[in-house]
Amino acid sequence: MNHKSGAILVLSGPSGAGKSSLLKEVIGDIGACYFSVSTTTRQIRAGEEDGIHYHFVDVEEFKKDIEQDFFLEYAVVHGNYYGTSLRPVKEALKDGKLVIFDIDVQGNATILNRLGDITTSVFISPPTLSELKKRLEARQTDSQEVIDRRIEMAKREMQRVSEYDFLIVNDNLQEAAEVLRVIAKAARVKIPANEINDFVHGWEDIH
Ligand code: ADP
Ligand code: 5GP
Repeated sequence: MNHKSGAILVLSGPSGAGKSSLLKEVIGDIGACYFSVSTTTRQIRAGEEDGIHYHFVDVEEFKKDIEQDFFLEYAVVHGNYYGTSLRPVKEALKDGKLVIFDIDVQGNATILNRLGDITTSVFISPPTLSELKKRLEARQTDSQEVIDRRIEMAKREMQRVSEYDFLIVNDNLQEAAEVLRVIAKAARVKIPANEINDFVHGWEDIH
């Protein structure tokens, strides 16, 4: 079957689980993709660039964007606003790309609701809570207070793993990346309900 329209791959998991690291490993191997750069009101971290990791804005600007229906979904995570811009996602889908979101459990629920039939969702988990704590501390991008908040949040997020299609436990990075590659390739060939009838109809080429 020749897929003309794109598909969505949602990645969620506690901050520090390894979503960015895994994505970096696989992004060159999974065909034409568009990584959705979210907008956030949180402080920029050392090593991050505006427009690459996030669009960093203040709360006032974010609220204006909400009013103008700029977001496909948005949520408050760890006390900051995060949102996915609708327009570039629509364009990437039209171009037949795999659109990748790194969003939280609330965002996944919204995407599932709005675009569930073209979405594949993956929850990325660290092997244990203590390993997560170790990774967040080693990353050296957050204060102890922020890390403690993220740990508490992680416990709550883990309760919602069953809302996802797949769970990847990111223990060995290379092994986890291989699983993500397979899932990303499969996500592309997920058949949206409205295309099934067209396909079956076209397939019956002998009457
Ligand atoms: P996220 O994007 O989910 O917040 P990161 O990709 O930033 O997480 O990873 C958090 C930290 O853990 C980083 O310092 C990263 O290098 C490290 N890390 C990621 N995956 C692994 C792994 N499998 N084993 C050990 N360290 C890892
Ligand atoms: P961080 O501050 O560590 O970059 O991200 C914190 C959390 O916000 C992560 O769980 C991440 O997946 C989530 N997040 C990032 N962008 C978005 C977004 O656009 N929408 C939603 N709902 N969550 C997001």
